[in-house]
Amino acid sequence: VFALEIQMTSAGLHLPQLGLWLDPRRAQRSEPAFVSHAHSDHTAPHREVILTEATARFMRHRLGGKRVEQILPFAERRHFAAPGGGFHLTLLPAGHIFGSAMSFIEARGESVLYTGDFKLRPGLCAEVCESAPAHGCDTLIMETTFGRPKYRFPPAAEVMAQIMRFCREALDAGATPVLMAYSLGKSQELLRGLAGTGLPVMLEKTIHKITRIHEGLGLTFPAYGLLDLAAAAGKVLLVSPQQARAPWLGEIGPVRTAVATGWALDSSCRYRSGVDAAFPLSDHADFDELIEFVERLRPRRVLTLHGFAADFAATLRELGFDARAISEDEQLTLSLGLKPERRQLPDLLPEA
Ligand SMILES: [Zn+2]
Repeated sequence: VFALEIQMTSAGLHLPQLGLWLDPRRAQRSEPAFVSHAHSDHTAPHREVILTEATARFMRHRLGGKRVEQILPFAERRHFAAPGGGFHLTLLPAGHIFGSAMSFIEARGESVLYTGDFKLRPGLCAEVCESAPAHGCDTLIMETTFGRPKYRFPPAAEVMAQIMRFCREALDAGATPVLMAYSLGKSQELLRGLAGTGLPVMLEKTIHKITRIHEGLGLTFPAYGLLDLAAAAGKVLLVSPQQARAPWLGEIGPVRTAVATGWALDSSCRYRSGVDAAFPLSDHADFDELIEFVERLRPRRVLTLHGFAADFAATLRELGFDARAISEDEQLTLSLGLKPERRQLPDLLPEA
């Protein structure tokens, strides 16, 4: 029996007794919302948000407007007033992108850990996700984007080396290498991966702006320039996946395009994203990391969401955990009559 109620509504995850939302999709005007990170599927123009300083800055840049920001440093246990004695909330590094946080909530003698998007492998541009609260938790609400055994990523350093080789081979052949990566997080990781290679880099405007915000937060990067079509030939270009079929690409002479995403493990990824190469560099936990995380925490129950939530909950039940999917994705998939695989790979790759 659990004292804390957790509801998945069409607006998002809600803890009704605490008046608290977790990464709700729909803007909240009366109750505070914890925002784990600033990727667009986790943000909305809420009135009051609980987040890290980095997420607050990315959110200001991407959404504009004003809101009440409750900014918490990692590991500070803060009390929030609410009916029934309120709750304590502690942010922990999620290792997904810079500033991404898990939320550890304590109320009514119980604890809930909500992961948001996370990964355990140390990335080049994110804080390292520590194992999890040493004292474990009663309820774990976790993302399961890559919750099928086929998603096991090779070591990131190996993938990065392949990407650098791809760039060098393109340049040697007289083509311009174009790396397509999500503008917040993956792009900065790739840029840092290029450090020490001596390869000249140009960033598309959106990526350039977000990289500048990272610098304002104290991160350093190798030299880069703003994308200038007239001078782009012979440089490594970093652009967002939305540009995969953009007409301007044709104006810079021969190009070789690549995406960096966990979905690269799907054989259809390269074709579906219309690129020459796909590299499995992800900012999400892979299947083994998802299992490892649950085994380290040993929660009393696990609620899964995003991606292969139902499959992963079934895997956890086989391992003896009390687990079930609360993903809206599953319902959406059913209502649209789509196979989950189909939903995972739209023409424009989802952030992963
Ligand atoms: Zn994300």
